[in-house]
Amino acid sequence: MTDSSAARETDVLIIGAGPCGLFQVFELGLLDIRCEVVDSLEVAGGQCAELYPDKPIYDIPAWPIIGAQELVEKLLEQIKPFNAPIHLGHEIQTIERLDDDRFRCVSQRGTQWICKAIVIAGGVGSFQPKKLRAPGADDFEQHIRYKVRDPDQYVGKRIAVLGGGDSALDWVNVFAPIAQHVTLIHRRNEYRAQPASVGKMREFVEAGKVTEAPGMVTRVLGENGSLSGIEIQNAEREKSVVAIDELFVFWGLSPKLGPIAQWGLNLERNQIHVDTEKFETSEAGIYAVGDINTYPGKKKLILSGFHEAALAAFAIKALLEPDKKVHLQYTTTSTAMHERLGVK
Ligand code: FAD
Repeated sequence: MTDSSAARETDVLIIGAGPCGLFQVFELGLLDIRCEVVDSLEVAGGQCAELYPDKPIYDIPAWPIIGAQELVEKLLEQIKPFNAPIHLGHEIQTIERLDDDRFRCVSQRGTQWICKAIVIAGGVGSFQPKKLRAPGADDFEQHIRYKVRDPDQYVGKRIAVLGGGDSALDWVNVFAPIAQHVTLIHRRNEYRAQPASVGKMREFVEAGKVTEAPGMVTRVLGENGSLSGIEIQNAEREKSVVAIDELFVFWGLSPKLGPIAQWGLNLERNQIHVDTEKFETSEAGIYAVGDINTYPGKKKLILSGFHEAALAAFAIKALLEPDKKVHLQYTTTSTAMHERLGVK
């Protein structure tokens, strides 16, 4: 059992900082409801930030065209007046209803939130790094890295980087000047990364700091419990061994419903069933908006999630203040809303 004395208390915990979770902050803020946001990723923005930050979106109302990352930045700007804490790198693992009908949510880091309502804006689930599955990988699991926390740790090391996208090439270019040597392993020697990053990497190849090794890893090798190398097979099925100290895998992220599946909610093909008045789940006080929910006619579009967030906020206001009537107010004319937004 976790210790509730260290818990953060708020009215609403929003699980997921994708576009719909972020807009949920705005809709709750307009109604003067306190909230906090958590996301398992290290950045806010969900699929927009993680899967297609540079792509233009054409169906956001009043924006004939807006970049996906730009949309995330605009949403973050719009919610600034409400000062809602956003906790990144926290995956909510458990939800528990307390005796006083509030909820306790706990992340994998042990951080706890006690709240009166929950909005699940978990999209397609938590994004997890795609794992290396070669023989030996399980034995050296703790030596295989899927993210870089402090590049200075790798000064003077022999590093292998697997991948051909932006993350792989960006990290090769960071490691190349500080490492003893970097080996870049990708199925082909054509890369999906930005041409400028590929060009920079090739300059390091010419300077002898980086080796391109097209192929796939067929075995992870170790000595005395430590990683010592990897076996690679090229397109001609020839095998070779590269001696390394560090192995990084940047094959991108794949969505997994993850812990949401364990929360006892009414699921339909990995989506949470909600009603279309309150966007409440089968559990009173737990709401779901955006790609994670389903109802007759559901369309997984950002604008659908925005609408859902607005109605969920009204429902939560009624839940938190059952004796008060919730009036619709316009942001153009409501002085109370102007105060909350910090505008004159
Ligand atoms: P997401 O963006 O998926 O965010 C959910 C967040 O929840 C994630 O960051 C995840 O890490 C987090 N999370 C999940 N579980 C947990 C947990 N247990 N604890 C903590 N955090 C958790 N839509 C449009 O309307 N127009 C378009 O043009 C368009 N183009 C697209 C192009 C591509 C390539 C893709 C992939 C999608 C596109 N979409 C588009 C769809 C749009 O991106 C989604 O509808 C939108 O991102 C859904 O937002 P969301 O906030 O519900 O979920």
